Amino acid sequence: MKDKYTSELEPGFTPVTIGGEAARCLLCHDAPCSKACPAGTDPAKFIRSVRFRNFKGAAETIRENNVLGAVCARVCPQEKYCQMGCSRSGIDRPIEIGLIQRYVTDMEAALGMKVLEKAAPNGKKAAVIGGGPGGLAVAAELLKRGWAVELFEKDAKLGGYLRYGVPEYRLPSKVLDLEIQRILDLGLVAHTGVEVGKDVTVDGLKGQFDAVVLAIGLSAGKWLPMFEGNPAVETAVSFLRRAKDAGGEIDIPANVLVVGGGDVSMDVCTTLKLLGAKNVTAVVYEELCEFKASRKELAGAREAGVSIHDGYVPTAVDGNKVTFRHRKIDAELSYTADRIILAIGQEVAAGGLGLAFGRNRIGDESLKAGDKLYVVGDVSADPEKTVVGAVAGAKRAAALIDEELGGK
Ligand SMILES: Cc1cc2nc3c(=O)[nH]c(=O)nc-3n(C[C@H](O)[C@H](O)[C@H](O)COP(=O)(O)OP(=O)(O)OC[C@H]3O[C@@H](n4cnc5c(N)ncnc54)[C@H](O)[C@@H]3O)c2cc1C
Ligand code: SF4
Repeated sequence: MKDKYTSELEPGFTPVTIGGEAARCLLCHDAPCSKACPAGTDPAKFIRSVRFRNFKGAAETIRENNVLGAVCARVCPQEKYCQMGCSRSGIDRPIEIGLIQRYVTDMEAALGMKVLEKAAPNGKKAAVIGGGPGGLAVAAELLKRGWAVELFEKDAKLGGYLRYGVPEYRLPSKVLDLEIQRILDLGLVAHTGVEVGKDVTVDGLKGQFDAVVLAIGLSAGKWLPMFEGNPAVETAVSFLRRAKDAGGEIDIPANVLVVGGGDVSMDVCTTLKLLGAKNVTAVVYEELCEFKASRKELAGAREAGVSIHDGYVPTAVDGNKVTFRHRKIDAELSYTADRIILAIGQEVAAGGLGLAFGRNRIGDESLKAGDKLYVVGDVSADPEKTVVGAVAGAKRAAALIDEELGGK
């Protein structure tokens, strides 16, 4: 069971099949796929390189535009971005852009290619708070511009939800480790196990650095009051973290009820099934046509044998029995489970920072949050709460910081 969790679930291209997929690309002028990538990864350019077997050029295009290119190849909801705009959809189906990107970045890793180079120092120093994709990407973008960067992360390892949330079968830890190493090689100084607000203060960092970037994400799982204090209940992010920390070696109950239906819920459901849960039932507020989960994640959970009931809200809890009422029709549902997992979203855990957050965010759309203070990732006003959204925000924030404080 553990092996299913630790092996990459989606098969990749081979040296033979990659050529066939790249050959399907129409090499569009003014390519819609490239316009649709928030981080500017430029699929049209790297697929053109792949067509001419120029894998080095393809890797350079990806890496120069997206410092988390190998991660995004695996976790990006391409159907919402590059693949949605793909012209090939009008003929048969979109090009598998994510899988091509994965093949190229795997080759980059296997051949030990070094695309990113250290920049000449500009004498400026930035502190980044939080080592998830937002913090890592903004650190890399500032390093590329000559800034010295120190990052403060409260966990023992860098990566944020890429490390402790996204399951191993979708993002192997070794892929993440290599992405982080590339940023460390640019000169990033990382202080792990340091919680800002407890071990050091934001004002203290502002005193020592020319700019401070907040990238603390939404690290706490949300609770509904009716479930609080119930020992049969845990949050999705707590469960996924336990599974990932233990490499899948955790006790899995036979019958599990998952409340919620976004991508995180589908990750919980599929993880449970891959690790051997007999019955996994997701009860979801949205109806199937309004589902928040990506089609890929939903299909994966269904293939794994998860039962899904849509359109229900929980109305009562008695120990490990939960009663739900349908939002639109006169129907009730009761479910008794060995374990109940709440997958209803995440919120900011900002204790001790001394900053005011409104609706899980801080700062304005320009990504400024105060004097010398900038913000990226899930806790920013940026509407894209995804990894590629965090990379895009990091590129914007680094450009703004450099323009305002880079001393040019
Ligand atoms: C289970 C799960 C699956 C997901 N799957 C996908 C997916 O497939 N595709 C996708 O695009 N997005 C996915 N997401 C969303 C994606 O992970 C987030 O959008 C992204 O991680 C946001 O990056 P971030 O850097 O803002 O925050 P985070 O990844 O949350 O990182 C924040 C970091 O800050 C640290 N931190 C917090 N407070 C402090 C402090 N006071 N001092 C020091 N450090 C601190 C935290 O420990 C953490 O490491 C998923 C999210 C979850 C939970
Ligand atoms: S939109 Fe599709 S077909 Fe056109 S260049 Fe991009 S991947 Fe190729």
